[in-house]
Amino acid sequence: ACLTRAKKCPGNCVKLVNLPADLKTGIIHRYGPNGFKLHGLPSPKAGYVLGLLGSNGIGKSTALKVLAGKLKPNLGNFEDPPSWQDIVTYHRGSDLQTYLTKLLEDDLKVVTKVQLDVDFVSKFAKGKVVGEILERCDDRGALKHLTKALTIDHLLEREVQQLSGGELQRFAICAVAAREADVYIFDEASSFLDIKQRIEATEVIRELAALKGENDRPKYVVVVEHDLAVLDYMADYVNCLYGEPGAYGVVTKIATNTVGINNYLAGYFPAENMRFRNEAITFAVKGGENGGDTATEDEGRKASNKKLGINYPDMSKTLGKGKGKSFTLNVEAGQFSGNDCVGLLGQNGSGKTTFMELLSGKFDPKGTDGSRPETHEGSFRNIGVAYKPQVYAPKLRKFRGTTQFLFEKYVNHACSDRLFRLMVLNPLSIPQLWELNVCDLSGGELQRVAIAMCLAQKANVYLLDEPSAGLDCEQRVITAKVIRRWVVNHLGKMAMIVEHDFVMASALSDKVVLYEGNPGVECTARTPVGLVGGFNRFLKQLNVTLRRDPENYRPRVNKRGSQQDEMQKGAGNYFVWD
Ligand code: ADP
Ligand code: ADP
Ligand code: MG
Ligand code: MG
Repeated sequence: ACLTRAKKCPGNCVKLVNLPADLKTGIIHRYGPNGFKLHGLPSPKAGYVLGLLGSNGIGKSTALKVLAGKLKPNLGNFEDPPSWQDIVTYHRGSDLQTYLTKLLEDDLKVVTKVQLDVDFVSKFAKGKVVGEILERCDDRGALKHLTKALTIDHLLEREVQQLSGGELQRFAICAVAAREADVYIFDEASSFLDIKQRIEATEVIRELAALKGENDRPKYVVVVEHDLAVLDYMADYVNCLYGEPGAYGVVTKIATNTVGINNYLAGYFPAENMRFRNEAITFAVKGGENGGDTATEDEGRKASNKKLGINYPDMSKTLGKGKGKSFTLNVEAGQFSGNDCVGLLGQNGSGKTTFMELLSGKFDPKGTDGSRPETHEGSFRNIGVAYKPQVYAPKLRKFRGTTQFLFEKYVNHACSDRLFRLMVLNPLSIPQLWELNVCDLSGGELQRVAIAMCLAQKANVYLLDEPSAGLDCEQRVITAKVIRRWVVNHLGKMAMIVEHDFVMASALSDKVVLYEGNPGVECTARTPVGLVGGFNRFLKQLNVTLRRDPENYRPRVNKRGSQQDEMQKGAGNYFVWD
């Protein structure tokens, strides 16, 4: 089943340009005679953080299981599977031999933060209390520090199943970081976290690499990460994976974080002379002189721009009742030119989703006293909104039928639109999912379906709440391009997007709405401002500075206290774009 699926979904838009001639050799593990093949393994380095970068379904979690000693690789041989000793011998003379030898002979202790999935709680922690679990994990006596650093010290009394996605993620990171181990593995640590929490989690993970164990034994830290700015900040070294998701994955040679990420974006690995993508990915900045993807696109945009003015008034909305149990969102009025792309930047719990629901017309903006205004003057409902909610999976998964049937039933007009197929469905690899039942789709596949369904609607405003959740790095870049090209450039309409991935947020937004206040209690959505000024203010709140890479212009987080960091802070330039 895996293989037929793989053929239909040939690589989430990653196209191999020159296939390695000799892929029969170098198989580390194969799941069954027709199953997925992993070629090569990452090489952890003692005392450093190693990052893995690659598409969904390319073998990252498989590689981690091998490094953790949980999966004994079969080198593709089912009749006569090799012993661990054969596997070590196979890697003779490499860093990996050193690692595997230690893993087997010195009994390296490995702890893993697994990829969070829907069953995580029921598998690991059902009915248990956060603080009790953490106490039991606290071999290092570091719990106080960790719960504070990850801002979960207020959650210790809660039951694990009550936690939100982001809280669960930080709890899981904390439980792993508190252990005494030789190898720390984090499989996708930033999902569900906001930008501030991503930085905090990164700093906790980096601290582990600096720890010294018994006899000064340095630690190994390995992470899988799709947020490029976070990966860059977290990892010292990077192993990339390329191939055909679901069919095979190849691990590239280790490189420094800068070189590894830049090679991945360039689509070319010089050490193996492998071009795995036709075009390089670069990031132009919106709102500056070089805003817009290319000159032609900007012209197309101007041509289609009829300057439909869109605005909303000052608003306020309180959810829930009673002190300590309610949340109030205040909104400052906003004005747009009708084809702006607006990014909402704020911590978890600051009311971004509430704001989108207000604009989508889900509830009336002034209804705090129970009264209902005649017109929904604060919402965009009367001018037409298309809305992709943050939580869409339960509703979509209830649909009985194939993806194609779903599109034909709800947005048939779009399926027959040639341009929509070319500009939205194909790049999001939706046709590859046509024959699959919607209820069987993975998280990332469902996300792409939900985004395409939203873009397929006729509207003046497109609201997308966390479109990059569940997507891999490659799909995030593609999705950002699709949204801009379709909504802003082609339709000349407005898009509003909640995004925690720095790279995506800065690549997408012309304007930003900042959230200030006390998350979970009362926050204010500020009036929209330009990207550079808005990001500058946002980063100042976080006390983080960004520079950009000279090769592909991706935003890079400066290491705290580095010369560049100090210099930018001194000049008040938290967001440097030149
Ligand atoms: P990633 O973490 O990069 O998304 P994984 O390592 O989880 O990828 O999976 C790589 C491929 O191997 C996927 O196509 C997946 O379906 C397949 N796979 C993973 N685990 C198994 C298994 N236990 N049996 C068969 N196939 C598997
Ligand atoms: P964000 O999308 O920025 O993470 P949300 O808009 O989802 O934030 O939520 C803002 C705050 O409102 C959160 O602290 C959430 O717990 C709270 N909240 C959401 N719905 C209700 C409700 N019905 N009653 C009380 N509080 C609520
Ligand atoms: Mg995985
Ligand atoms: Mg939200």
